[in-house]
Amino acid sequence: MQALYPGSFDPLTLGHLDVIERGSNLFNQLVVAVLRNPSKNPCFSVEERLEQIRRATSHLPNVQVAAFDGLTADFAQACGAGVILRGLRALSDFEYELQIAHTNKSLAPQLETLFLATATTHSFLSSSVVKEVARFGGNVGHMVPTGVAEDLARLFNQSSP
Ligand code: ADP
Repeated sequence: MQALYPGSFDPLTLGHLDVIERGSNLFNQLVVAVLRNPSKNPCFSVEERLEQIRRATSHLPNVQVAAFDGLTADFAQACGAGVILRGLRALSDFEYELQIAHTNKSLAPQLETLFLATATTHSFLSSSVVKEVARFGGNVGHMVPTGVAEDLARLFNQSSP
C-alpha cells in the first residue's frame, strides 16, 4: 500500500523525519509531498525543502519526494496513495487535523487518514519553533537534520553549528 505524507516542511524537523521513518516501515511506498502554498510566506523555497527532505531520507529507498498544489485528496489519488499520513503532537493539533481528515474523507471516501503520535522526544518540535530559535542564534542541532541546520545558519547569516 502507498501513503502520502503532505505538509509544509518549512523546514523539515526531526519530528517530521521520525514520522517519515516510521511511515516507511508501515507502507510499501511513502510519498512525502511539499504543498506549494505561497500564502504561508515560507522561509525556504519549495525546491530547497524538497532537497532537504531528499538528503534526510536518502537512506529510505521506499520514500519519494514531490511537490504539489491544489487539494491534498486530489494529489493522493493522482499518485495512487490510499492513505494520508499525518503526525499528532498534542491536543492542540487534534482539532485542526480532525477537521482536515473529515474534509478529505468527504472529498474522497476511499481515502483514509492515519495519524502517528509524535515521539515524546520530538513533541515540542515545530518548524516555527526551529525558525525562531535559529533566527536568534540558538542551537538547533538536536531539532533538525544536519543539512537543515546548515541551511538555517546560512539563512540567518550565522556560522554553521
Ligand atoms: P502543515 O502546514 O500541513 O501543518 P507541517 O510541516 O507543519 O505542515 O506539518 C506536517 C505534518 O507533520 C502535520 O501532520 C504535523 O502535525 C506533523 N508534525 C509536525 N511536527 C511534528 C512532530 N514534532 N512530531 C510529529 N508530527 C509532527
